[in-house]
Amino acid sequence: MKAPPFDYARPASLAAVFELLDAHGDNARLLAGGQTLLATLNMRLSEPALLVDINQVPELTGVSLGEQCLRIGALTRHTEIENHPLVAKHVPLLKLAVPHIAHRAIRNLGTIGGSLAYADPAAEWPACALALDATIIVQGSQGQRRIAAADFFVDVLTTSLQPGEVLVAVEFPLAAPNWRYGFDELARRHGDYAIAGLALAVRHDAGLLADVRLCFLGIGSTPLRARRTEALLTGRALDAAAITDAAAMLASELTGQLAPLPDLTNSSATKRHLATVLLRRLLARASA
Ligand SMILES: Cc1cc2nc3c(=O)[nH]c(=O)nc-3n(C[C@H](O)[C@H](O)[C@H](O)COP(=O)(O)OP(=O)(O)OC[C@H]3O[C@@H](n4cnc5c(N)ncnc54)[C@H](O)[C@@H]3O)c2cc1C
Repeated sequence: MKAPPFDYARPASLAAVFELLDAHGDNARLLAGGQTLLATLNMRLSEPALLVDINQVPELTGVSLGEQCLRIGALTRHTEIENHPLVAKHVPLLKLAVPHIAHRAIRNLGTIGGSLAYADPAAEWPACALALDATIIVQGSQGQRRIAAADFFVDVLTTSLQPGEVLVAVEFPLAAPNWRYGFDELARRHGDYAIAGLALAVRHDAGLLADVRLCFLGIGSTPLRARRTEALLTGRALDAAAITDAAAMLASELTGQLAPLPDLTNSSATKRHLATVLLRRLLARASA
């Protein structure tokens, strides 16, 4: 199918974007990499009257190192993140996750801002943002807000972005030497969205796990921290017994309210099993 007719604007500043969003309200839609939006237009799942192309807005670009964080502009392409030396050095989890995002052609165009704003529960960047306690910076004509990742993802494809706001950048805390990171996912074919995935960040202190973040994608309606399993691991040595106990705890945690959402081909039980496989795998790697 072809997209419905729409008007197109390409503002050159954030102020001009806000003017258009304020004037057109719900009828306007931001266009970043277009890797999700254009498909939804072609399938007529969305019929905005105006596309506001933000690709010429300089305030949304760039990767910069601060004292406490690495700031990544919303328009940064997945491929730029894959190849950026500051990302590899200071936020290595992103480097581990990025090869799992779609295929090269999509990574060349798709942006981190588009991925976070779209909030697909099976996407990699939202899970990394939550695992690392990232801060998401959004701005509208009324000013700027800084939102913790834990408060940003609200439901399937739903965030706390308000009408008229643009996701401007995301700030990731810098990696410290006593942290280890891991990322893995299971998909039917390489490049498909994950059936289940896990972003892991653990801090060691004197041989014990002092901080544990287990953030699953493809399991819940938003990226999901397995808090009970994290608590079980905290304070323990990362040995075979801890890994076995954690997998059992996770299987129990992902029942009832936190039972994985099934998809067209995978039941909740299958996803629960895959989550425990990923947990064992990444904990074993982190212990090596
Ligand atoms: C075949 C295929 C496979 C894919 N597989 C994966 C995958 O495995 N993992 C994965 O994570 N993604 C996957 N994607 C999606 C891809 O990563 C997209 O790039 C991403 O979801 C959206 O980024 P975009 O820049 O293309 O956004 P767009 O498509 O331009 O926009 C997406 C939505 O976000 C809004 N938006 C964009 N930028 C902003 C902003 N700065 N502020 C506020 N709202 C904004 C738009 O209005 C729109 O509603 C896949 C896409 C395709 C086509």
